[in-house]
Amino acid sequence: MAQVHNWHLGRDMEYPYTGGTYDRQFAAVFNINRCIACQTCTMSCKSTWTHSPGQELMWWNNVETKPYGGYPTHWDSRLLSMLETANPGGQTWTKEPGPTSAPYGQFSGQTIFEAADLGQRVLGYIPEENDWKAPNRFEDHATGAPRTGASLPEHEGWFFYLARICNHCTYPGCLAACPRNAIYKRPEDGIVLIDQERCRGYQKCVEGCPYKKSMYRPTTRTSEKCIACYPRIEGSDPLTGGDPMETRCMTACVGKIRMQGLVNVNTDGTWMNEPSHPLYYMVHEEKIALPLYPQFGTQPNIYYIPPRWVPRQYLYQMFGPGVDHAIEAYTRPSRRLLAVLQLFRATQKIIFSFDVEEGPLLSEIVVDGAPMELYDDTAVGFDQNGNEIIRVKVEDPLIERPGKINSL
Ligand code: SF4
Ligand code: SF4
Ligand code: SF4
Repeated sequence: MAQVHNWHLGRDMEYPYTGGTYDRQFAAVFNINRCIACQTCTMSCKSTWTHSPGQELMWWNNVETKPYGGYPTHWDSRLLSMLETANPGGQTWTKEPGPTSAPYGQFSGQTIFEAADLGQRVLGYIPEENDWKAPNRFEDHATGAPRTGASLPEHEGWFFYLARICNHCTYPGCLAACPRNAIYKRPEDGIVLIDQERCRGYQKCVEGCPYKKSMYRPTTRTSEKCIACYPRIEGSDPLTGGDPMETRCMTACVGKIRMQGLVNVNTDGTWMNEPSHPLYYMVHEEKIALPLYPQFGTQPNIYYIPPRWVPRQYLYQMFGPGVDHAIEAYTRPSRRLLAVLQLFRATQKIIFSFDVEEGPLLSEIVVDGAPMELYDDTAVGFDQNGNEIIRVKVEDPLIERPGKINSL
């Protein structure tokens, strides 16, 4: 095992390979507070990539209702239990949050690589076929009905929607587990792909992916997974005239919960200091977006703004110790953050940097009992060459319909 640095854990960890050398990393921020479970993302991926024989149970993008739902069934609670069995009582976080190499403190427990049995590269399991058959089981099931009405900070009866795709992890469990070296991270963008020529369908990746985002296709006897719509990332879609474009599931998002991009990374997997990159700004400057189950150890690259109404103990387990700060910063956003949040789903092109132009005071409101000023600032997004591609104001413009409409 090699020693690699995992900044989600704030420490080095064991991994079967040394970290790859790649310049940029595919990443995204999902705002759970806005997801309405319309499943448009799910269907946009399905109709593009997984509509063929043998792919009937494959949902590379899925949206499940937490805490009971899961695709495959109970994928996360099963693995959490296995980790607890391997390291009873030891799956804890210590130390205070630190610099960008340890922004959530330090995880002192065992990852799926460190908890693996002798002779095994990754701790995992292969779901039963039935576990894949009902991706939307427990839809809208809350933990109970509130008896006295619901109010923040925590609702008595609660649920939320968790949209998931492959995390294109920095240290993928699927890649580590594959005995055929059929899985690789592309050096240009860190996208994780399965070479269909090399794959022999042993399903070690299905077993080793803690998020269960590698799936077996019985008709080809190979495993398949989200390919991050790489033709779009490469700018092959005619719609953007050669510019890198966000993926199908991102651009289709009705709730405007998603922003996807490419971040520049250092050789140890940490992100280069780029405060004007919208993803860097949200993850490292404002710290409002957190990795999903960072304790698994794969350093996943989809980040989530946690739901405000959910009991904190549940969120700590799912997103680590950064939850309190993330919710606080999202609930009372800084002037700059409020502007950046307007960029979600404003364009299909990938935004590489942003600027905020200050506007007039809109109103004074009260949030959590404290006054807050709202400004009509303008967020401006730029492409990788620094050309402006989008500008959005905090206040939606009011457009009056003309008296004469259509052909009347
Ligand atoms: S399209 Fe967006 S809002 Fe709808 S389910 Fe998917 S992530 Fe949620
Ligand atoms: S989420 Fe799973 S399938 Fe995707 S890169 Fe990570 S370990 Fe591999
Ligand atoms: S990025 Fe593309 S391939 Fe991956 S889940 Fe989204 S639509 Fe599907």
